[in-house]
Amino acid sequence: MSERLEQLYQEVILDHNKNPRNYGKLESSNAYSHGLNPLCGDDFHLYLKIDAKGIIQELSFLGSGCAISKSSASMMTSMIKGKTLAEALEWQKNFHQLLTEDTIPAAEKKSLGRLSIFENVKNYPARVKCATLIWRALEDALQNYQKENV
Ligand code: ZN
Repeated sequence: MSERLEQLYQEVILDHNKNPRNYGKLESSNAYSHGLNPLCGDDFHLYLKIDAKGIIQELSFLGSGCAISKSSASMMTSMIKGKTLAEALEWQKNFHQLLTEDTIPAAEKKSLGRLSIFENVKNYPARVKCATLIWRALEDALQNYQKENV
């Protein structure tokens, strides 16, 4: 990894950790999940408001965790806002692949945009669960919503 990329990675993560986007409880939510990573102590609630057309209008998270889990939650909620359920699940799949597979197709990596900086977390295997925690909560919340609303 180049020094410049490593620096960018640290800056983005620290910024989202210090100033998390979409932080707080969403009172009007109609989908929810709770993500827990006991190995690190990351503990987040995820709230979503999905409209009748299946578009995620709002989402927010609340809880506490390490810088990686919190910045991942902050970035995920920023990127997924306004997406359809199918698009959100596609992002989830690509992000999970980025962090757990040896390689990811270039097009899929490109589609992740700024989230691709989390690929560096692979160098710290113990932190992979921190980065993917909120995404697993997203998948869980969307699957439960689909079960109840189809
Ligand atoms: Zn963590």
